[in-house]
Amino acid sequence: MIYYTTKYNTIDSEKMGRRKRKIIRITKKQLPKVFSCPQCGMFSIRVLLDVESESKIVCGSCGLKWKKENTSKKPEAIDVYNTFVDEFVSGRG
Ligand SMILES: [Zn+2]
Repeated sequence: MIYYTTKYNTIDSEKMGRRKRKIIRITKKQLPKVFSCPQCGMFSIRVLLDVESESKIVCGSCGLKWKKENTSKKPEAIDVYNTFVDEFVSGRG
């Protein structure tokens, strides 16, 4: 779940050396995940998980909305997003 921490730590120690840059901005309750929108191309897609047993996707740029019943108890944002893109693309032919 919090694998971001190790990821950033690795980058930090490799590139920053002794300089400590506070780039770690992790909110523990909800991980801010932003994806690119297949409709408008902006990085403004937000994945809202576990909202009444369904996941929602909202684009903050063009207003695109999509929702789907959760297929697992702990859906991953990236999985929901992938499913969304899949359906979006196939729906548009
Ligand atoms: Zn959009």
